[in-house]
Amino acid sequence: MRADYVIIGAGSAGCVLANRLTEDPAVKVLLIEAGGRDWSPYIHVPAGFMKMLDHPTLTWGYHAEPDPGTAGRAILYPRGRVLGGSSSINGLIYVRGQPEDFDHWAQLGNRGWAWDDILPYFKKAENWEGGETEVRGRGGPLSTSKMDRPPLCAAVIEAGREIGLEYREDVNDLPPGAGDSIGWCQQTRGGRRRASTARTYLRPALRRPNLQVVVKAQVNRIVFDGRRAVAVEYERSGTVERADAEREVILSAGAVNSPHILQLSGIGAPEHLSRVGIPVHHALPGVGQNLQDHYIARISYPVTGMPTVNERSRGIALCSEIMRYLVTGKGMLTYSASLAAASVKVLEESATPDVQCSIAPGSFKDGQIGELDEFPGITAGAWQMRPLSRGYVEAKSNDPRAAPRRSRNMSAPKFCPGLIWRATRNSWIMRGRRVRPSITRPAPARWAVTRRLSSTISCASTASNGCGSSTPR
Ligand SMILES: Cc1cc2nc3c(=O)[nH]c(=O)nc-3n(C[C@H](O)[C@H](O)[C@H](O)COP(=O)(O)OP(=O)(O)OC[C@H]3O[C@@H](n4cnc5c(N)ncnc54)[C@H](O)[C@@H]3O)c2cc1C
Repeated sequence: MRADYVIIGAGSAGCVLANRLTEDPAVKVLLIEAGGRDWSPYIHVPAGFMKMLDHPTLTWGYHAEPDPGTAGRAILYPRGRVLGGSSSINGLIYVRGQPEDFDHWAQLGNRGWAWDDILPYFKKAENWEGGETEVRGRGGPLSTSKMDRPPLCAAVIEAGREIGLEYREDVNDLPPGAGDSIGWCQQTRGGRRRASTARTYLRPALRRPNLQVVVKAQVNRIVFDGRRAVAVEYERSGTVERADAEREVILSAGAVNSPHILQLSGIGAPEHLSRVGIPVHHALPGVGQNLQDHYIARISYPVTGMPTVNERSRGIALCSEIMRYLVTGKGMLTYSASLAAASVKVLEESATPDVQCSIAPGSFKDGQIGELDEFPGITAGAWQMRPLSRGYVEAKSNDPRAAPRRSRNMSAPKFCPGLIWRATRNSWIMRGRRVRPSITRPAPARWAVTRRLSSTISCASTASNGCGSSTPR
């Protein structure tokens, strides 16, 4: 096979690139994806995300290395393996981030990543159901929607206001210097369905004759002519094939697999490559280093007197939620991983909020993935927005089928389980002395949060090897 551009990985980035590049009919693009087509209903019904975190075919089934910082647990490390990549399995939360963080990236030398540079692309990408404003876009491919607003989360937002957090109606319209705030999350959802990049960018481009998509094809390595990438070698149905690139090979296989593919192609730290039997093509020790990730520490409480996802996902209540979803496109089946979120400053030295606390009107059984408690529950999670720990991705062998070793390095001195812990304690427990009574106060006697169920550090939601955005342009 031959094309002008060969793109490795049809995830968030790969689908956007395939769409934008094939806008020019003279350009031929080949998009190669290891996973299959996005036919599973779990992908398209938003609440299905919780059934996909450890899905045997829709994810890569990765776990992080056991780490003293996580009490030796090998924590699940979900990555999408399907058209749309992780945008087909993620928590659907549409959050752009703080303008100051983008400006900081630009100051570090990443020209073109300052907030003023990025904003036009955010606007160009999106189709915001709230309509166009100075900061929001309308008419772009990516549908972004307001969250359904259940009363339990409304009460938490009210409690946040009571303890002095500023309420923001649009959490993606953050003026520079914004302080502690709380508001409703927004979603990458169009109508009833998840707005993955497969649906929003790839599908419309599939009509173009200059785009070819190959699925269930795992790229083993990039082929070089000297220092120029000229082709890729991939395996499909047990046969190794080659695709030549006239112009460029584009590597968009995600934060874990992109460095892994580079290492399998002989690009990386010579000592590591030699150790695992890969001939060194180009010495580049930074490949696979500097992995940054967001851990979330979750705390769950039982709830009385208010509906939560737990009991509504069973029996007659579930039937009525399904009817509601089909008829109105609202209700529990449209929920994301969290519905409301507070941004708070925990470290004295931070100039802007450094921890996000998210709220979901449900709770998982302790230590179980995707299994909800039998009784009504609520979960608050906190994550460090600018993680300080640095992990790595490392090929374990020269076999492309062997999963790479991944560590988030939770025990590194700069990792802050301490910070997360302080955040959870400060924001939701110690402040929670106020939050919890105030959660119960706005809706007196109708419901109450009674005792703490569990607190766990659980799977990360995003990972990157440095600066990067999960938002397509
Ligand atoms: C569980 C979870 C929840 C998340 N929640 C949110 C959220 O709520 N909001 C948010 O903004 N972000 C969220 N994220 C993060 C966001 O989804 C990712 O940052 C983003 O999708 C990464 O895009 P990407 O293009 O870099 O990689 P991906 O979207 O992961 O795409 C990589 C693609 O490459 C393919 N691939 C990999 N190796 C090969 C190979 N050898 N050959 C061929 N193909 C290959 C993969 O199968 C995949 O399709 C979440 C992520 C996860 C995993």
